[in-house]
Amino acid sequence: MSEVVDRWVERLKGKLPPIGTMTHWERMAAAFDLKPMDMPAVAPELDYWQITYAGYSHQEIYNDADKCTDACIRTWADLRTDAIWMYIDISHQIENFIPAEARPKYFVHRGSKDYLLFKPLAKTLDEAIALYENRTFEKYLGDSRAVTHYHPHMLQLLEFQEKMDRVVPVIVGAASPSNYAETIVEVQQFVRWTITQPRKLKHYLDLALEERLKALDYYADAAYGNGCRFFGLFGGARTWGPRQLREFGYADQKYVEKAAKIFPYLFWHICGHNLPEAMQDLTCWPLKAVQYDMPYYSQKLSYREWFESVARLFAGKRCAMNAPTTQLACHGTPGEVRAMVRDFVDATTPHTTAVVMPGCEIDAFTPVENVKAMIEAARERRL
Ligand SMILES: [Zn+2]
Repeated sequence: MSEVVDRWVERLKGKLPPIGTMTHWERMAAAFDLKPMDMPAVAPELDYWQITYAGYSHQEIYNDADKCTDACIRTWADLRTDAIWMYIDISHQIENFIPAEARPKYFVHRGSKDYLLFKPLAKTLDEAIALYENRTFEKYLGDSRAVTHYHPHMLQLLEFQEKMDRVVPVIVGAASPSNYAETIVEVQQFVRWTITQPRKLKHYLDLALEERLKALDYYADAAYGNGCRFFGLFGGARTWGPRQLREFGYADQKYVEKAAKIFPYLFWHICGHNLPEAMQDLTCWPLKAVQYDMPYYSQKLSYREWFESVARLFAGKRCAMNAPTTQLACHGTPGEVRAMVRDFVDATTPHTTAVVMPGCEIDAFTPVENVKAMIEAARERRL
């Protein structure tokens, strides 16, 4: 029972004007199930952005789950996106690898809108392996923000979802084994070791996988058990080449396979410059949708061609989630945002279903009018 949730439920339940002929939940479910929709769904990943939109600073919500939840619901009540993304930052993910007194050294708070910066936890592969083999992540879990902040915030949003009779889904997100393995040591180190120490690296990745598979038991209980059905997996492996994907992609695949047995609406987040090979690999994973991003540098494709090639690849198999790019959302004009959303929807929907959702989270400095333009442009398209 949460006071902040009850306040919002009382204010909103039964009082919101309908948008289209489907509820937000029905629209998202139809997108994932590849069924007819009244209009494209629109669900930008607002994690950091919604905090300042709602009038808080990141410092203010950092240790306050109530304010964090309040910000997410307040933003949704205004903008009526087709899903609510819970707030997540990097300390939720890795604080449990660090003893409490050492944490200030690893996380850097900057301005009220800036991302929380972090420093890698290990310099060598042996150090990284030891963090897992010594069960460091279990030792410091109890007072880490995964437990003190992420968990209550997630439960509050799911309570809101259920008390609102599932009119809008809450998206819970969790990082993949490759994402963890890269974050702990820094991506460029990880990628270097795929070439210089492949056997030892595989052992490290296996340890990360083991921890992640166990974490899914927590999600089955705390997230699914409290109503979560839409689950986003944040993949790493964004800078891997085809060879690394072939050699080390198995860890994320195993993670996806277990998550798919728990959550009916599972999607994969792969941001950055995506290789066509990475998109291809994903087609045999049990995913309902993919939040993908920009074409790889060497691909001389227009965005429209890129959207269309992915939509053709996903046809009959999964839902495509994209547009505009996070960069355009932040630095473009509302007109450019609208044009890219239109291009994405028009290039995608002849082949598969579309969710308007930039490839990565909306930058906290993104102008409000650009987020509104993204939502309006999606709502103007009829399918
Ligand atoms: Zn991302």
